[in-house]
Amino acid sequence: MTVIAPNAIDRSALLPASLRDDFPILSEHVAGGHPLIFLDNAASTQRPRQVIDAVSGVYERTYANVHRGIHTLSELSTEQYEHARQKVQAFINAEHFHEIIFTSGTTDSINTVARSWGDANLRPGDEVLLTVMEHHSNLVPWQQAAARTGAVLKHVPITDDGRLDMEAFDQLLTKRTKFVAVTEVSNTLGTINPIAEIVAKAHAAGALVLVDAAQSAPHLPTDVRALDVDFLAFSGHKMLGPSGVGVLYGKEALLDAMPPFLGGGSMINEVKLDRFTSAALPAKFEAGTPPIVPAIGMSAAIDYLEQVGLAAIHRHERELTRYAYEALSQIEGLRILGPSPEYRTGLVSFSFDRIHAHEFAQVLNDQFGVAVRAGHHCTQPLHTLLGITASTRASFYLYNTPEEVDRLIEGVVAVQEMFAPKGRHRKRRKPDE
Ligand code: PLP
Repeated sequence: MTVIAPNAIDRSALLPASLRDDFPILSEHVAGGHPLIFLDNAASTQRPRQVIDAVSGVYERTYANVHRGIHTLSELSTEQYEHARQKVQAFINAEHFHEIIFTSGTTDSINTVARSWGDANLRPGDEVLLTVMEHHSNLVPWQQAAARTGAVLKHVPITDDGRLDMEAFDQLLTKRTKFVAVTEVSNTLGTINPIAEIVAKAHAAGALVLVDAAQSAPHLPTDVRALDVDFLAFSGHKMLGPSGVGVLYGKEALLDAMPPFLGGGSMINEVKLDRFTSAALPAKFEAGTPPIVPAIGMSAAIDYLEQVGLAAIHRHERELTRYAYEALSQIEGLRILGPSPEYRTGLVSFSFDRIHAHEFAQVLNDQFGVAVRAGHHCTQPLHTLLGITASTRASFYLYNTPEEVDRLIEGVVAVQEMFAPKGRHRKRRKPDE
């Protein structure tokens, strides 16, 4: 079997492999005994012992519903939950703790803005500027908002190498643009978008900006005040935290002026049989019992990330990505989606003309123990634009190693030799997504 030797790895850019010991799941074996190689981190990450212990510690010692009780456990839970909010506030450098709304995830956060801000502010003919590389979570809520309000959606295209076409952005941004919603990092291309430039231009045109930080907050330092973003959304499960919790950051004045999205307990100040008044921030946007334990787990995840350091994590992932990118680029017939490594974070998606992504994922799992993603990664319009229906995505995090990348490459070469040996053209399988 051909094994490709990419340019040597710069080990000084890598984090110590010993931090893998913090992640119990990484010593699992899969598919009949292969050591697990987890390269599906853009979908969801694994948790260190510190997060697992924080979560089970709450259930073992302090759990109760928050905000409502006068008893000891409710006070303890409330304290931990509100401490988690302050942790998130510091993590993204928000000015006020009440600008941090706990949601169920990025999807919930974006829907909250599209429903609450969108319905209250968008008028027929107003434009919402999105990009063609958005995750469905940052497309569909705006399609729904447009259908309700008569607003018009515009989409910034990408350049041939998979970066945002900023010349097109300049042309599409007009006085009619009321809102810009853009991902900081594409979950399919890995591209890092120029958020500071986008925000400055959008504000100059009188538009607000929401940043989908689902793929950036876990991997890059985030500073909402330096970027001056109006809204920011991200998920706990993509940054070593539990699933079921996410964050909506919004500037105080904007959140204050927005009507609540969901109605129910906690979000009220006073209720009569026929009307209610809203609670102050952040409760106004946290109807019902909030994600108490996931938020406390997310706080432990932030502690962990900060201890390792976001800049060091980014450096580690960039080096692994460069290594993987250079090796994959040497495989004949394989097409890497997105820009060269200097414009991307820690993921590489690829397609191969004669082999469906599912075949890559299946063989990589079954014969190499490598977990990757196959499909459209919730970016169907982007895949359509790229002329494909699916791709295979390897996404890295702080615990991945160059040896795991070697195994991925070995697996990809094996799949190629298995399904599309040189000189033989296998009948193309009909893609199913
Ligand atoms: N936005 C991007 C860029 C994503 O990658 C994802 C998840 O893959 C989401 C939004 C949705 O996140 P969640 O499923 O946690 O709501």
